[in-house]
Amino acid sequence: MTQTILKISGLRVAYGGIQAVKGVSLEVREGELVSLIGANGAGKTTTLKAVTGTQPIADGGVEYLGVPCKGKGAWDLVRQGLVMVPEGRGTFTRMTITENLLMGAFIRKDREIDTDIEKVFEWFPRLKERRNQLAGTMSGGEQQMLAMGRALMARPKLLLLDEPSMGLSPIMVDKIFEVVNDIHRQGVTVLLVEQNASRALQIANRGYVMESGEITMDGPADQLLKDPRVRAAYLGE
Ligand code: ATP
Repeated sequence: MTQTILKISGLRVAYGGIQAVKGVSLEVREGELVSLIGANGAGKTTTLKAVTGTQPIADGGVEYLGVPCKGKGAWDLVRQGLVMVPEGRGTFTRMTITENLLMGAFIRKDREIDTDIEKVFEWFPRLKERRNQLAGTMSGGEQQMLAMGRALMARPKLLLLDEPSMGLSPIMVDKIFEVVNDIHRQGVTVLLVEQNASRALQIANRGYVMESGEITMDGPADQLLKDPRVRAAYLGE
């Protein structure tokens, strides 16, 4: 049996009196690419924040590799391979591209960091061309590439991606989905949060649909893509 890497059970998260996540349960198994889709404000980002401990959990729980995440700091989780690329990228704007990538590897003590930087440059040749440029001077798409590259430098077991295609040009969106697919094929387990439901489901093994803080549908990605309710609500049909 494949190991469950992430298990979210009955998760509830509130901002003051507002319930943003209302009893969400989902799981991600080793080797999967799972997409969590839903409209703006459905509670997807809040769910990811609860997983990494950046938003307090009101009820329910999150287990990573069979152990509750509660009480663990974000860095503890990174050390154990749970790495998130946040919405809005969060790159260090006054550092160069290479420095940003090295920051992603600062928890590591092995000697393969240079090899991994070269690997990131193979995925994103644009980053190589601009490796001495300050991150803050790059376009949104380039910053997304950098944020993903930096996360890969931590050698994630589970990569959480929050809306990587948001605000990007169509060419850049193609590139980002191509790389997410590639990262998954190379063995990284991925939980992908996206509003671009069609693209996110096309590359996923399974999917969950979130609406107003709840999971309303889930299943194999190809079945969700064919589902008339998904097609009407998220694929513009
Ligand atoms: P988006 O695609 O816009 O990120 P989402 O599905 O990720 O949408 P969340 O960002 O998780 O949704 O937001 C869920 C709900 O919680 C929304 O109603 C939002 O307004 C509310 N919310 C999010 N962050 C906060 C906050 N810091 N304070 C108060 N309410 C918040």
